[in-house]
Amino acid sequence: MTDSDDVKLPGYKLATRAVRAGQIRSQEGEHAEPIFLTSSFVFKDAAEAAARFSGEEAGNIYSRFTNPTVTTFEKRLAAMEGADCCVATATGMSAILATCMGLLKAGDNVVAGRDLFGSTIVLFNKILTKFGLDFTYVDSTDLAQWEDAINARTKMLFLETPSNPLCSISDIAAIAKIAHDNCALLVVDNTFCTPVLQQPLNLGADIVVHSSTKYIDGQGRTMGGAIVGDKKNVGEDVFSFLRSAGPSLSPFNAWVQLKGLETLSVRMQAHSRFALELASWLEQQPAVERVFYPDLPSHPQHELAKRQQCEAAGIIAFQVKGGRNEAWAVIDNTELFSITANLGDTKSTICHPATTTHGRLTIEERELMGVTENLLRLSVGLEDVDDLKKDLQRGLDKIK
Ligand SMILES: *Cc1c(COP(=O)(O)O)cnc(C)c1O
Repeated sequence: MTDSDDVKLPGYKLATRAVRAGQIRSQEGEHAEPIFLTSSFVFKDAAEAAARFSGEEAGNIYSRFTNPTVTTFEKRLAAMEGADCCVATATGMSAILATCMGLLKAGDNVVAGRDLFGSTIVLFNKILTKFGLDFTYVDSTDLAQWEDAINARTKMLFLETPSNPLCSISDIAAIAKIAHDNCALLVVDNTFCTPVLQQPLNLGADIVVHSSTKYIDGQGRTMGGAIVGDKKNVGEDVFSFLRSAGPSLSPFNAWVQLKGLETLSVRMQAHSRFALELASWLEQQPAVERVFYPDLPSHPQHELAKRQQCEAAGIIAFQVKGGRNEAWAVIDNTELFSITANLGDTKSTICHPATTTHGRLTIEERELMGVTENLLRLSVGLEDVDDLKKDLQRGLDKIK
C-alpha cells in the first residue's frame, strides 16, 4: 500500500515521474531499483514488531502486503495516474476482484458497460453473483442507459474505455457525474490507454484498475494488476482485502513492470502511431468491411476520443467480408503476427474474439456486444508497419 509523499514528484511531468517516482535508494547507493526477494522482514526489537503490526508505525512486515519493490511500483503508478494510493495485485483480474470485494457487500448492485473484457463478465456473472452482488449491463456509450439502469442499491459504475474488442469510447467525465449524483463510485479499467494516454481520475473517476500484464509490462513476460485511487477506498478498503486474501504482486514481477513504466511513454506513442497507420491502411482494403479504431475519423466516438485521451493506443478491431472462415483465413495466413489473446506487447498479436477471449459468453451476449464471427482483433506491436501490412495482405487476398 502506498501513501502520498514526496516520492510522487509533484511538479514534474508524467514521463519524468514514470522514470523517477517512488524510488528510495538503500544504503548501498544502487542506481536501478533493487528486487527485494524476501517473504518477511525482521524487526529490531519486540516493541518495533508490535508497532508495525498494529499499524502505529509504517514499514515492511510480510511480502503478502508490504514489499519495497512492490511499493516502489505502486508509488510510481500512483504518481502517473495522479492518485494518492495504489495497491498492486497478482493479475488484472485480481485487481478487479479486490475492488469489488473491498468496496461492495451482498445486496449491492453494479452497473457496468456491456463490452467488458471477457473474464470480467465471467467474474461478475458467474462468481460474484454467488455472493449476493448483482450486475446490470448498459451500452457504455449511451449516457441515458447509465442513468436509467441505476437503482437504490447501485454502489458502483464500472467501464472500460476504449472497450475490448471494439474500441468503443465512453464519456468518463459525464458518467462520473451520473455516478456521483447517485452516490456511487465510478471505476475505470484503464488497461488499454495506460496513464500515458488517459488519466480517468483527472476526469472525475474514483478508481482506476489496470492489468499491468499488458502495456505496463510491455513485452509479454509477467502478470500483474493494480488499483489506483484515494486513501479511504483504495488505501484502506481494497488494501485490507489484499492483506487478508493475498492476491499480491510478486516482487520480481513488480520489478519487471517498474522498469516497464520507465519506457511506457515512448512505447505508447509508438504503438499509437503504428496502429493508426495500419488502421488507415486496413480501411482501404476491399476485403475489409469495417475498422474500429478511435483515431480514425470514421469511428463513432472519434470527437470524444480526441478530447478524452491523447492518442488511441495499439488495439484495432476489424471485420472482414464474410464470416468465421474468412476471419480464420486471415489469422492462418499470417507469419509474423502471434496467434494469441495477449495484447500490449512489442510483438503484434491477432485473435478471433468470438472463439477465444469472448468464447465463454453466450451467443446473445456476444451479439449485443458486436463480437461477430467476422471480427478480428489486433494488438499492434513495434515491428515495422510495412511488414505487418504484408502479413495481413496474404490472408485478405484470399477473401473474395
Ligand atoms: C487482460 C485484461 C484484464 C485482465 O488482466 P489479467 O492480467 O489477464 O488478469 C482486465 N481488463 C482488460 C481490459 C484486459 O485487457
